[in-house]
Amino acid sequence: MSSISPTALADKVEPRSGSPRINLLGLDAAGLASLVESWGDKPFRAKQLQRWLHQRGVADFGQMTDLAKSFREKLARHCEVRAPGVLTVHKSADGTRKWLLDVGNGNAIETVFIPEDDRGTLCISTQAGCTVACRFCSTGHQGFNRNLGVDEIVGQLWLARRTIEADREGARLANGAPAPLAATDDRVISNVVMMGMGEPLLNYDNTVAALRLMLDDNAYGLSRRRVTVSTSGVVPMMDRLSRDCPVALAVSLHAPNDALRNDLVPLNRKYPLRELIAACQRYLEFAPRDFITFEYVMLDGVNDGDEHARQLIDIARQVSCKFNLIPFNPFPQSGLKRSPAARVRLFAQRLMDAGIVTTVRKTRGDDIDAACGQLAGEVKDRTRLKERLAGETRFGRIIEVRE
Ligand code: SAH
Ligand code: SF4
Repeated sequence: MSSISPTALADKVEPRSGSPRINLLGLDAAGLASLVESWGDKPFRAKQLQRWLHQRGVADFGQMTDLAKSFREKLARHCEVRAPGVLTVHKSADGTRKWLLDVGNGNAIETVFIPEDDRGTLCISTQAGCTVACRFCSTGHQGFNRNLGVDEIVGQLWLARRTIEADREGARLANGAPAPLAATDDRVISNVVMMGMGEPLLNYDNTVAALRLMLDDNAYGLSRRRVTVSTSGVVPMMDRLSRDCPVALAVSLHAPNDALRNDLVPLNRKYPLRELIAACQRYLEFAPRDFITFEYVMLDGVNDGDEHARQLIDIARQVSCKFNLIPFNPFPQSGLKRSPAARVRLFAQRLMDAGIVTTVRKTRGDDIDAACGQLAGEVKDRTRLKERLAGETRFGRIIEVRE
C-alpha cells in the first residue's frame, strides 16, 4: 500500500467539506512525514505531531506545547483535525455506545463501542452503504454510496476514544477520585473490529492506511491480533492484506455450500467457497499462529439445519478456524427470521462436538438498537429517526467478538 500524500488527501477532503485544509486524521506516518518535509521542518516533528493527534487526541494546535511556534502556525494555517460530525450518540444500560455520524450528502455511518470486563471493542464502518448486497444485511439493502476516506475511518476511533476518555475523566473528577498513575496501559479501546457498515476490502487502500495507523506505536499502538478485518470474501484483496498488513481476519461465511451462499452473499458467485477457503489457508501462511474467525448469521430454516452443520464441519477441517454464530437481527425487507435460541445452541453443540471452537455472539446494546445499518438508512428522514430512537427496546445485532 502506498502512503497517501498530503496533496492527494487534500483532493479527497476538499469536495466533501468545501474546506481547503488538509485533514491530519487522514495522514499515516509517511503522509505526515512528507507534509513536514515539504515545509522544510525536521522529520521528528511528524512523530511528535502524530502523538499529539492520536495518542493524546488533541485537536487544538495551540495545545501542542512541544512544537515550535512557527510550526504550529503553519499547522493552523494549512491543516485541520476533523472527525465526522456526530448526529446522535446513544448509551445503553450495559455500557454499549453507538454513534451515528454524518459523512455528508445525507449519508450516515455507525460506530459502536462495546465495553467488557477485560477489553473495550470499537466496531467501525469503512463505507457508506455496501455493494455486496447480502440478503440478511440492512446495509446491503441500502445500496452503496461511497468509500470512506482514511480520515473518516480513523476519525471514528479518534472520536470514540476522545469522548469515552473525557467522560471517564469527568466522572472521576465528579467523584473526587485521585488522578490515575501516569503509566497505565488500561486502554479504553483495546480492540478494533471492522464490522460496521461496508466491505473493508472493497475500500482497500484507505482501509490499510487506517489499519497502519491503528498499529503504529506513535498513534494507537494496537497489536495486530487486536485489530480485525471482517470480509464477505474478496479473495484477491485477502491475499494483498496478508502481505501488506496481516491483522486478524474474520470471514463472513453464512452458508456451507455454494448454492446457498450464492443466494445469501452474492459475492460468492465471483469467489466461490473453494477459492475462499484456499485464500483463508494462504492468509494463515502469513500469520501462522492465527486462525480465521468464520462468522455465521443464524437464519431460521435457511442455514441452521443439521446438514448445514455437517457441511461446515468439512470446511472447518480444511483451515485453522473458530466459529462465531450470530443471532440474526431481523428487518422487514429481508423476509428472514432469527433461528430460535434452542436451534442456535444445538447447532453450536454439533460444531463443538466435532472439536471446533464455537461462540455465540451476545446481543449488546439492545435498548439503543445497535443494529447494522438500520439507523443510518433512515437518517435522511430525521422525524422517523427520532421516533425510532425514542421507541421501545428491540434487539440489536452485535458485534461481540470472542477470540
Ligand atoms: N462487509 C463485512 C463487514 C461488515 S458486516 C462482512 O460482511 O464481513 C459485519 C458482520 O455483520 C457480518 O458478519 C455480517 O454478516 C453481520 N450482519 C450483517 N447484517 C446482519 C444482521 N441483520 N444480523 C446479524 N448480523 C448481521
Ligand atoms: Fe456488505 Fe458485509 Fe452487509 Fe454483506 S454483510 S452487505 S458485505 S456490509
